[in-house]
Amino acid sequence: MEYAVSSDALKGKVILVTGAGDGIGKQAAISYAQHGATVILLGRTVKKLEATYDEIEAAGYPQPAIIPLDMKGATKQNYIDMVDTIESQFARLDGVLHNAGLLGVLSPFDQIGEDTYDDIMQVNVKAQFLMTQAVLPLLHKSEDARIVFTSSTVGHSGRAYWGTYAMSKFATEGMMQILADELSDTTIRVNAINPGGTRTSMRAKAYPAEDAELLKTPLDIMPLYLYLMAPEGKAVNGQCIDAQPK
Ligand code: NAP
Repeated sequence: MEYAVSSDALKGKVILVTGAGDGIGKQAAISYAQHGATVILLGRTVKKLEATYDEIEAAGYPQPAIIPLDMKGATKQNYIDMVDTIESQFARLDGVLHNAGLLGVLSPFDQIGEDTYDDIMQVNVKAQFLMTQAVLPLLHKSEDARIVFTSSTVGHSGRAYWGTYAMSKFATEGMMQILADELSDTTIRVNAINPGGTRTSMRAKAYPAEDAELLKTPLDIMPLYLYLMAPEGKAVNGQCIDAQPK
């Protein structure tokens, strides 16, 4: 399927992107800004967020904002404070791309450490749960709001050694389906994207021996990321869509 959107599809919208300093999240922030959105760049490494900010500013897209936050340690109150900041600065929020994620270490099930389990579930699931709860009141004020989660092929079909990461993506897809169903009578649409193998540092960590040049880049998979945030994708709800269908 072709996911085409107009060049100013996101004009006037305010979109929060987590993990906006690297990989897919960085490209999504730039692409959303290119299509007119004011993007809020959330992540844990300020230097990387600043690099995304600088690229957006140099391109002449709407001025972004940076929210430094380590989702591993962030509390419910941190997310409430974050939303207060967004509301006072922008008075609106139209979209959230839940993109930040931790891979952890691939290992046999019986060797998954409790700390690794806790860290991955915290960043990939609980942080998104708390953040979503906090942003919902602001999203409800938008006439056309979107929440886009990020899953994985191992988020709908379990695979040996993918352990906690895969479990976290199953939980992510569940959270997406529950919210989409609950919000179906509202102006908020909720979906997920499975990026498929994409040339980033997370992919290189999972597949150190492969030739990264053969992989799609984050830019290649942007049409779907744009479509699910744009008016063109408004009819889609409760789906996990493959950015690289077989
Ligand atoms: P990446 O290059 O490793 O980027 C992940 C981003 O998440 C980074 O910006 C990272 O920040 C941020 N992050 C990690 N832990 C965080 C924390 N505690 N607090 C705040 N931010 C945190 O990975 P990617 O490949 O772009 O992955 C993006 C999403 O796509 C993830 O949800 C991943 O599971 C999913 N995915 C990727 C692929 C693929 O082939 N690449 C395939 C399927 C699914 P730092 O830069 O500071 O580390």
